Amino acid sequence: MQMLTAEETGRAAARLTAEIKKLAGGRTIRIMEVCGTHTVAIFRHGIRQLLGDAVELISGPGCPVCVTPANYIDAALACAKQPGVILTSYGDLLRVPGSRESLAEAKAQGADVRVVVSPLDALAIARQEPQRKVVFLAVGFETTAPTAAAALLSARQAGVENFLLLSAHKTVPPALRSLLTQGACLDGLLLPGHVSAVIGLAPYRFLVDEFALPSVVAGFEALDILTAIRALARQIAAGRAELENQYRRVVLPQGNPQAMKILLDVYQPVDVEWRGLGLLKESGLVLRPAYQVYDASLVLQLKTQPAVEPKGCCCGLVLQGRMQPAQCPLFARECTPLKPVGACMVSREGACSAWYNYGKRGEGA
Ligand code: SF4
Ligand code: SF4
Repeated sequence: MQMLTAEETGRAAARLTAEIKKLAGGRTIRIMEVCGTHTVAIFRHGIRQLLGDAVELISGPGCPVCVTPANYIDAALACAKQPGVILTSYGDLLRVPGSRESLAEAKAQGADVRVVVSPLDALAIARQEPQRKVVFLAVGFETTAPTAAAALLSARQAGVENFLLLSAHKTVPPALRSLLTQGACLDGLLLPGHVSAVIGLAPYRFLVDEFALPSVVAGFEALDILTAIRALARQIAAGRAELENQYRRVVLPQGNPQAMKILLDVYQPVDVEWRGLGLLKESGLVLRPAYQVYDASLVLQLKTQPAVEPKGCCCGLVLQGRMQPAQCPLFARECTPLKPVGACMVSREGACSAWYNYGKRGEGA
């Protein structure tokens, strides 16, 4: 993208906004932004306010922390409480409520839970503490799954046997299929930039072929997002449904074949539970049989219990785009980023957290 001054960016944004409003032709276009980083960027750049009634932007299931069900946190807690285990995790996950408590609470009570910024940090801990089992909470979409897989391959190559993964990795296209099959009322989709950089465009083809839904891959700058929304508005106005890539400086049609190869070598697809969306066919990634000695759920013999979701929390409806966060009765009352009731209020990329932090607690959204 060509570097523009703030003034030039402002002028370009105004032109795009005017064009989108004209294309909307007096109606409200309903667009879902699938990715949590888009949700935050949309708020940060004030795009909702710019577009007014011409476009309703609906947050989707694109924050990996938000869609991780409570019973995964319960399984992580069961790991943390086993003697000799060090649990390692990205920071966000620590505050996600499990059925009874969070990892942060378990840590406060003495469990050895450590925050890391990458699975390679967890692997380094495993090398330093060979007598302990080091479990990495492998959460995320196609963007982070290859990194965890690469760490596992490094462990195997180095003969590190005490490094384990507890995989809750998920893939985005099955979640989109589920939303559309359940009748989500949308005019278009803003597709996630980073996930698309890994998987490419082909896995989204069903969106236009089967559901005739205009779908555009978008970047994260204000003009990226507005350009992608304009592309959607043009399709909608012309009655077209096409798959477009408006983030060509990062996303190649074929994605990242090297990352996909690592992902497919190490993991296999399985049906898994998503918070708010239920059991989705072949939407999860678990370790293939050749890597099961690194699978924490098998090595530590974890038993998964049905999830108990927090009382009154509407994360399910928010993640399906059926409710805006501020419509949840607990929003900004019992549930705040400091004291989250549901997972959508925990991660910075969670829809409820973004609405709270950037949407002036929903008032300005
Ligand atoms: S991992 Fe990438 S695609 Fe997924 S929510 Fe974060 S920024 Fe969006
Ligand atoms: S505001 Fe809190 S309780 Fe309500 S849906 Fe969001 S996370 Fe759940």
